[in-house]
Amino acid sequence: MSASIIDGKAFAAGLRERIGVLASAFEAAAGRKAGLAVVLVGEDPASQVYVRNKGKQTIACGMESFEHKLPAETSEADLLALVETLNADPAVDGILVQLPLPAHMNEQKVIATINPDKDVDGFHVVNVGRLATGLPGFVPCTPLGCVMLLKDQLGSLSGLDAVVIGRSNIVGKPMAQLLIAESCTVTVAHSRTRDLPDVVRRADIVVAAVGRPEMVKGEWIKPGATVIDVGINRVAGAQEGKSRLVGDVDFASASTVAGAITPVPGGVGPMTIAVLLRNTIVAAHRNAGIALDE
Ligand code: NDP
Repeated sequence: MSASIIDGKAFAAGLRERIGVLASAFEAAAGRKAGLAVVLVGEDPASQVYVRNKGKQTIACGMESFEHKLPAETSEADLLALVETLNADPAVDGILVQLPLPAHMNEQKVIATINPDKDVDGFHVVNVGRLATGLPGFVPCTPLGCVMLLKDQLGSLSGLDAVVIGRSNIVGKPMAQLLIAESCTVTVAHSRTRDLPDVVRRADIVVAAVGRPEMVKGEWIKPGATVIDVGINRVAGAQEGKSRLVGDVDFASASTVAGAITPVPGGVGPMTIAVLLRNTIVAAHRNAGIALDE
């Protein structure tokens, strides 16, 4: 058997197209574009690439992109003051502070300063609480993207056994909350889990968010299960000096057992920014008091 490949790149492109339509309708109704502010502190090369891509895609969807690049030695007080300015700016619907921040800054304090109604990353404790209690808020982009792919693939997820490997605040925990909300029976595995292969073998849905290259093997997977690989790991390539990206799932063996699987790259990865833009257009409508038909 060979799994069908879940094409996150194509799904994300379709999502961006729908956001583009919503963004122009918003502009016509509100008399201004929806706006996303992205704050980058320091010169981390990976963060620079993310921020550049976010800006480009924001503009391509017909929204306004406000980029704030601050030097690494910026004080925490100055960053907090910028966040407060963005909180008060009516042209800014969404605020994203690119993580990680330099070591002299308290990330929790910075996130806590963002107005929860502009927290399009969904990291503010108010949004974490809203997700846990079923209130409308903002959900972290990567796990929300995973649920979109799962629902597109499977339709209703109700009653399915799901295993989430990883319990980070950014991926694992919100992923588990979202699957509970979809009426899955959810198991969250982590580094202390006993007999992980056995736990994974019970699952109709496996979400791997571990950060360990190709850790989840095909023989762990229940035949026909849907596998969502969040991992992005850079490993040495076949040619000397070259590297390549792999997921947390051993794609070669898992794709012979699973019913459907996301590839790396081209699976979950492209969903994250598309969902960020989706959260921003949702924020814009809420902040402007305009109804949104999603
Ligand atoms: P974290 O390092 O924050 O969390 C990793 C989790 O995996 C922890 O809960 C840890 O358990 C668990 N873990 C580690 N080793 C094992 C093991 N041997 N067996 C079972 N569980 C284990 O990572 P993130 O959640 O931030 O990211 C996970 C992966 O997803 C990374 O590869 C990252 O690059 C990728 N990622 C991709 C995104 C995208 O596609 N856009 C966005 C965000 C992340 P414990 O808690 O016990 O330590």
